[in-house]
Amino acid sequence: MPIMPGLSLDTPVQYLRGAGPHRAELLSRLGLLTLEDLLFFLPRDVLDLTRISSVSQLKEGELHTVRGRVVDRDARLLTRGRTMTAVLLACDGQFLRGVWFNQPWMLQKFQDGQNVLFSGKPKKRAGRWEIAHPRIQWLGEDDLDANGGMLPVYSLTEGLKMHEMRRIMRTAAEEGSQLVPELLPDDLRTRLKIPEIGRALRGVHMPEGPDDYDTGRRRLILQDLLELQLGVALRRRSWQSRAAAARLPVSAKVDSRIRRLLPFQLTAGQNRAIREISADLDSPIAMHRLLQADVGAGKTVVAVYAMLLAVAAGFQTVLMAPTELLAGQHWQTVDRLLVNSRVNRLLLTGQLTAAERRDALARIATGEVQLVVGTQAVIQADVSFKKLGLVVIDEQHKFGVSQRARFASGPNAPHTLVMTATPIPRSLCLTRFGDLDLSIMTDLPPGRQKVHTSRVAVGPAREKVWDFVRQKLRSGRQSFVVCPRIGSAVDLSNVAEGPGAEAVFQRLSQTELREFRLGLVHGQLESAAKNAAMEAFRKGETQVLVATTVIEVGVDVPNATLMIIYGAESFGLAQLHQLRGRISRGSFPGFCFLFSETEDPASAVHLQTLEQHPGGFEVAEADFRLRGPGDILGTRQHGDLPLAVADLVRDESELGESRQAAFDLVGSGEFDDPKFVPLKVRVLERFGKLFDLVGSG
Ligand code: ADP
Ligand code: MG
Repeated sequence: MPIMPGLSLDTPVQYLRGAGPHRAELLSRLGLLTLEDLLFFLPRDVLDLTRISSVSQLKEGELHTVRGRVVDRDARLLTRGRTMTAVLLACDGQFLRGVWFNQPWMLQKFQDGQNVLFSGKPKKRAGRWEIAHPRIQWLGEDDLDANGGMLPVYSLTEGLKMHEMRRIMRTAAEEGSQLVPELLPDDLRTRLKIPEIGRALRGVHMPEGPDDYDTGRRRLILQDLLELQLGVALRRRSWQSRAAAARLPVSAKVDSRIRRLLPFQLTAGQNRAIREISADLDSPIAMHRLLQADVGAGKTVVAVYAMLLAVAAGFQTVLMAPTELLAGQHWQTVDRLLVNSRVNRLLLTGQLTAAERRDALARIATGEVQLVVGTQAVIQADVSFKKLGLVVIDEQHKFGVSQRARFASGPNAPHTLVMTATPIPRSLCLTRFGDLDLSIMTDLPPGRQKVHTSRVAVGPAREKVWDFVRQKLRSGRQSFVVCPRIGSAVDLSNVAEGPGAEAVFQRLSQTELREFRLGLVHGQLESAAKNAAMEAFRKGETQVLVATTVIEVGVDVPNATLMIIYGAESFGLAQLHQLRGRISRGSFPGFCFLFSETEDPASAVHLQTLEQHPGGFEVAEADFRLRGPGDILGTRQHGDLPLAVADLVRDESELGESRQAAFDLVGSGEFDDPKFVPLKVRVLERFGKLFDLVGSG
């Protein structure tokens, strides 16, 4: 037995009483190396055995928790395809049923003989007690002989038992909770109604009642999010103080001159966004605004309006897209809108020869060119503007946060407008993009068709789809066929990863779509070949375009109203929504078929969301709940937000609360009070680098 050193938060877990090297090894697999790690490893649940009701104590409509053993399970078909699943518990000689509607997979979650807690409001039906959709807590062997009380439930790893984990965590809380410094001043704690840190930690790991646990947990989550939001608020304050920008005034004359260039009336949403943007531009603080709308809502026109405003005010402006393809499309849109204007503009791509590029850069540097479209890579390389007033960044979430700062330095920062490809869930708006102002457009241009989406399993249903597709193609429409990977013509068999575009192209050309002209585009083609394939489709020379997700963003072919997506379960919801947005562009209704062979119920539910919700905002929220933040932004590689105990999906209300508190503290200047120094130091340690706060206090 090593001599126990004086404990500190950095003490390795092995020196903790009752832990030792073997368990320390197990704990390290959970990422728990030090005493501090243990303290902030929150239980994933707590079993409240203090208030178990016996069946004879139940009252209709009151919340009760009942303990019992699973003795019977069954699933039944009701009318109209609905199902009812029931699990019967034996509770000290009496019985209670849990029932679920339309969740047939609940049956698999239970095994006979298992001990569980059901919580909910019971009802007596035909003389028997039942709870519909109860909250379920599974009791392990370790939970049975416990004589009541509150039992925290921790995530475990192979070889580590729940009772051992509970003992270790209890020791950690007993010995370590008073070592954690209190960073939140008393009055802030009072305002937020949260206990001090030591009490919170003990409340979570060794609760005496449900309140201890709840308030303790709330404090830890709130503090975690508060530190994040203080980082966000400081970031905002920091660029606001640095970002002295030129004012780009708007006048009625300029407004009507710009509107005359547009071939259509703007929607109410577009007009509102334009008002918000104009107000920002006409201010001496640089705009940092995020424009959010569903696919096809018409963000580009809003951007073009803002850019023309900048040009009218005598400034240069640039529109950056994430890919050459998109930059090219934006260029076409802009160029088309500006045919009758004298705005001096150019498209800056990687395709320019060295001489062309030199010439372009020179014209940008002298200020002769007023409006530039290009990819981020091309523009960032060595371009210097004479008088840059506005930067528009499209599809921000492919870039990550850091690029935003690129233009935002120097005495005259340009205004920045960021456009996202699809709506972003609220929680992410408040965190990763939390320092930006938001413009949200929820309406679509008039006459815009909703896309009918249906999931199609294998078998005869597919034949019907092909019949339908052939009929539409014959009547002049066009179709996308999207595949999860490129594949090759020979490996037809690789079902696990979903079908490859090359194989599907070959097959459809020879079978289902033999009579039509097909094109193929994917990321491994030379960009000339890629452009040729897209161009042929755009012109209607090909009727069907087989593609990977290279067509995900931006491709605008109003006549394409059909989309078949192979291996639909291998895409994220937001991505599928983005894809189907490609076929809602014209005046004909769109039809999207999600081919999926999966039998995984979770995937089915997933795809159902798309069948049921035509709108991107709902899809974004659903996707976020299903997959969490990292996958949505594709930011896993860049590191997620480093949260300690909070979860953006689960802790939404704490997120709103912490944001309010943080912005109040920073906005009122209260955060600069010396009593906040320890908290500020912590915020800078955790988020200074991520939010580029170094030296800005
Ligand atoms: P997104 O928001 O996906 O970037 P776009 O800006 O590409 O959408 O616009 C989609 C299509 O809608 C384009 O063809 C555009 O010309 C058209 N559009 C945009 N605004 C309107 C409007 N107010 N009325 C009619 N059509 C519009
Ligand atoms: Mg767009």
